[in-house]
This record gives sequence, structure tokens and C-alpha cells, in this order.
Amino acid sequence: MNTISDIKITQSLTSKINEVDFENLTFGSIFTDHMLICDFKNGAWQQPEIKPYEPFLIDPSAKVFHYGQAIFEGMKAYKDAANDVWLFRPDQNFERFNKSATRLAMPEVPEFVFIDGLKTLINLDKAWVKHENGSSLYIRPFMIATGSGVIAQPSTQYRFMIILSPAKSYYSGEVKVIIAEHYSRAANGGIGAAKAAGNYSAQFYPTKLANDEGFQQIIWTDDATHTKLEEAGTMNVFFRINDTLLTAPTSERILDGVTRKSVIDLAKRENIEVEVRSVLVEELVHAAKEGSLKEIFGAGTAAVINPIAGFSYQGTYYELPKLETSFAQDIKTKLTAIQTKDAEDTFGWTVKV
Ligand code: PMP
Repeated sequence: MNTISDIKITQSLTSKINEVDFENLTFGSIFTDHMLICDFKNGAWQQPEIKPYEPFLIDPSAKVFHYGQAIFEGMKAYKDAANDVWLFRPDQNFERFNKSATRLAMPEVPEFVFIDGLKTLINLDKAWVKHENGSSLYIRPFMIATGSGVIAQPSTQYRFMIILSPAKSYYSGEVKVIIAEHYSRAANGGIGAAKAAGNYSAQFYPTKLANDEGFQQIIWTDDATHTKLEEAGTMNVFFRINDTLLTAPTSERILDGVTRKSVIDLAKRENIEVEVRSVLVEELVHAAKEGSLKEIFGAGTAAVINPIAGFSYQGTYYELPKLETSFAQDIKTKLTAIQTKDAEDTFGWTVKV
């Protein structure tokens, strides 16, 4: 079973699209008319099915509830002026999804189900992708352990799904961050490099404490020494010291972000000096004090690039300068233009649906 005709399609008889205010979308809260489901049982993937978006039944003893066998991806599709829909580097998300699956002792999803299934699903819900400035379709593939039994062992049954959510350009407001001194999101040998649900729930409590102090996000540091800057909640982070862009290398503790690697390639094409190496907290504080720290920004699918206004460390807040021309803005404009097909994609990153 490995062609599009092997996907069972049940079309929705009605559409919710006319009830949606596309000008006022809250990120990730509205879903399109259809979803994709593919179950794994008896050691094999079953026939994928696209059907109307709806809740489904699941046993209360399903392992996802008790042992957290759950992974996901986040990617986007854009519509160009000619009404064609484009995915951005979907091969990277597919690869990362299966790496996450392996780390969580879950079965790998076949390419035909993930990629061809996704394209078929988007084609059905194509009207939900808008061309207007800053619009996109946020794509959420995920897999959960559906096998029952409260015994701490990997499940033998899984459900892979894809749901789609229309999105406007994501603006999170001014982001102030705090540098982690006690809590950690990942450790060597752990699951930090996987997009596992548990990585996110583990961040909620320390992030709430940071929110209470007036910071929107935490920049995580290495768990062993808390001296190296790693990444933020759902973004990799870049630091601009003078005119050099610095970012941590990927590791077992850091998610290998698609936006991160695209930013590195794009910055290099723009002749910006990029150093992929461990960035020390000490170095950041020193640069902030002497005025060579120009920018910090996050990079991730949802916001693309998210400028950071300042950071707090050991109780001192360091405000970043307001720049006329920032690397963050320049890179965001160029990357978004490639994603939306407003600029030529010389990298070959965009894939037509
Ligand atoms: N780090 C973490 C922990 C994330 O959840 C994300 C979002 N997927 C990123 C970085 C950025 O990755 P990407 O650019 O692939 O969205």
C-alpha cells in the first residue's frame, strides 16, 4: 500500500469555513474540515483515512495518558498569488518526526502516509490556505500510543494523525526572556532532541514562574553547568554580537530546528558571519555590558523569527538596543518571501502540494 489512491477519503458534507473570521485567528485554535488518521496495529500500518475533523474514542488506559508516548511536528503551508500551495522543507519535518518516533520507541511512519497523506489532506482543505499577507496553514502531524493497559511498556498500537489550522502572521508582542539558572528542559541522553510532548509539559511550570516575574520565555542553558545558552520554549536562539550571528550547535539537548538551519544558510548567503558554537552566558552578559550585543532572536516555524527585547540573568535585566536595521527583520523578510513564493527559492526549499 503506497500510493495516494490507497488513502480512503470521506469528504465532509458541509464546511465550517464560512464561520471563520480569518482576520482574527488565535494561533492553533481553529481547525479545517478534514483530518488524516492512520493506525498502527498487529505490527503494521493500516490504510490511512482522511475524514471530517471530529473527536474520537480512546480507552482510558491508553498508554499515551499514563506514559506519555506522544510526539508531534509543526510545519506550515503557504498559498502563492497563482493559488498554488507550497510546503516549506517538509522532508526535514518528516525525518525529524521519525527520529522522535525512534527515540520514544514508536514505529516510524511511512513517507507515503506522512508526505502524500499531507498533500492529499491539504488539497481537500485548500480553500483554508489564504494568500493574504502573513497568512499560512499551520500543520500539526502527531502520533500517540493508543494501546491499552496500565503497564509501563511501549504500546503495540499507535495512531498517527494530521490536523490543520489556519494562521495569521504570528506576533507575540515584546518578548523578554530569563536565562535558566535552575530548571532544565533537557539533559544529555534524554529526549531534548525529540519533539516529544513531555518536553513541553516539563517546561510549563518553570515558564509559569518566569511569566509571574514578567518574562515571556526562558532561554534554557545546559543542565550540567547552566553556563551554555541553548534554546527557548519552541524556538532556537540566535545572538548577534557586533556583526556576527551566533547559535548553539544541535545536540542531544536541542531540537534541530528547520527554521534555525534555514536562517544559518540564508545569513551566510547574505554574507553575514555565522558561528555555530556554544555561546556562554558569561559571554552574553559581557557583550551586553560593553554594548557589543546587538540582537537576540528566536527562530521557529510558528513565529518564523521572534526578536527579543532583553534578558534577565541573576536578577539583572539587560535591555537590548533598538536598531534601525536588524538582522532579525532582514532575515525574517527574506525567509518569509521564500516561503510565500514572493522571492525566488534558490535553495530548493519549497515543495508544491
Ligand atoms: N526548539 C523547540 C524546542 C521547538 O519546539 C521548536 C519548534 N518546532 C524549535 C526549536 C524550532 O524548530 P522549527 O524551526 O523546526 O519549527
